Amino acid sequence: MTTPMTTKERLAIDRARMPELAATIRSANFEEVNRGLAEDDAIREAQRCIQCKNRQCVEGCPVGVSIPEFIGLLADNDLPGAARILQHDNALPAVCGRVCPQESQCEAKCVRGIKGEAVAIGYLERFVADWAMKNAARLGAETPPPPAGKRVAIVGCGPAGLTAAGELARAGHGVVIFEALHDTGGVLRYGIPEFRLPKAIIDVEVDRLRALGVMIECNVIIGKTLTLAQLRQEFDAVFIANGAGLPTMLNIPGENLKGVYSANEYLTRVNLMGAGRLAEASTPIIKGRNVAVIGGGNTAMDCVRTARRLGAERAMIIYRRSEAEMPARVEEIKHAKEEGVEFLMLTAPVAILSEGDGWATSLRCQRMELGEPDASGRRKPVPVEGAQYDVPADVIVNAVGTGANPLLTATAPDLALNKWGNIVADENGLTNIEGVFAGGDIVRGGATVILAMGDGKQAAAAISAFLS
Ligand code: FAD
Ligand code: SF4
Repeated sequence: MTTPMTTKERLAIDRARMPELAATIRSANFEEVNRGLAEDDAIREAQRCIQCKNRQCVEGCPVGVSIPEFIGLLADNDLPGAARILQHDNALPAVCGRVCPQESQCEAKCVRGIKGEAVAIGYLERFVADWAMKNAARLGAETPPPPAGKRVAIVGCGPAGLTAAGELARAGHGVVIFEALHDTGGVLRYGIPEFRLPKAIIDVEVDRLRALGVMIECNVIIGKTLTLAQLRQEFDAVFIANGAGLPTMLNIPGENLKGVYSANEYLTRVNLMGAGRLAEASTPIIKGRNVAVIGGGNTAMDCVRTARRLGAERAMIIYRRSEAEMPARVEEIKHAKEEGVEFLMLTAPVAILSEGDGWATSLRCQRMELGEPDASGRRKPVPVEGAQYDVPADVIVNAVGTGANPLLTATAPDLALNKWGNIVADENGLTNIEGVFAGGDIVRGGATVILAMGDGKQAAAAISAFLS
């Protein structure tokens, strides 16, 4: 029998580092950048957790994963036990282990972070979820519960819809997800590139939900193919999780020139339809020699790193504030820099220029400086007088944000919306219409995977209560 480790021994272990594909190799292909921890390193990292009684890390997780419990079992080399806990608490653990901003959620609250580095909860989540995928036969399939006799329709197959579906299926309800696109996953599939989140991971997680009895009907647009009122008639409850995929326009001259894309279109062509990525794909994409991506969030990083992989000689981020204000994950910024992406900070686009043939050739930029803090608390960028210059750019990608798509809501006039067109819902996801719930980006505006999943979990509990 081995002696249990003392707290002092646990505190002496250094945080594990994520192995990565070399920047010179990865910037020319779509292979996953982060390679995942080896088993020994994962167990050692798990041993850094001091199993706090006051579980701050769980407080920081919007879906309330039993973090110390799964990490404790991993530290004891009980991988099946760790996997069962994780899969029970989180419908998409292999996804979250890859794309969640743990540094501002569970890891930000980890007590080990007070005097050093937080436990690498995200790396461990990914390790256990990947182990569970490889050992699915050993873990055995989850048995669907006996039917409770109620039916729930879900609009949208992104993280909010998928999470709600899993929870409702586990409660015995018949669940049908209606998805406008021809494939599952929402932003996870059409937005986040293969080099951060391989499609095969999404497939396995979605199949696990299908095995629980969740039905998925693709190519159905609610608001066109069917209306919300029809769903409400046919089902006992409806959960709307159709995201916020409508691009915000730049509203500058030249926005309609050829070579200008919205981030969603650019990423969808490459990620969902294989353009420039898969030899057999017939979807076209303009690859661009000088690609300027406007924005500073995760979406902008995904676009610029995609452009680099498609062969751009200059792949540039154009951002009107400074790097300190960029909303993208620190890891994404680091990876982009390593891959040769240029960061043009304190730079705002004012026009897209052409040589008269309808194709974009350059971006007119305005130099900015930071002024007083604005309503968001961030220092407001203000133009520096007389400081404009042109940057050559044959592809320009607008990644400044997205809003609510009115496709569904335009055909549901009774549904209460806020001034931005987002659905108004209470903390349980209940809208102003009885039996109709909503969550994820369509309620919050563009947010994160885990917040959308938290909404899905919360709404599923409220729907179950409503149905009983
Ligand atoms: P979505 O994921 O948008 O899914 C909504 C689904 O509904 C879509 O499949 C859509 O096709 C479908 N739909 C829309 N309208 C209809 C309709 N009328 N009828 C039927 N179906 C419909 N968050 C992170 O935490 N980490 C990241 O690294 C990260 N990177 C991102 C990168 C990009 C490029 C983008 C765009 C976002 C990123 N985000 C990230 C944000 C995150 O992906 C979203 O907050 C999250 O996906 C929202 O989930 P959702 O389920 O509400 O909506
Ligand atoms: Fe472990 Fe950190 Fe959670 Fe404490 S706060 S239980 S050290 S992961």
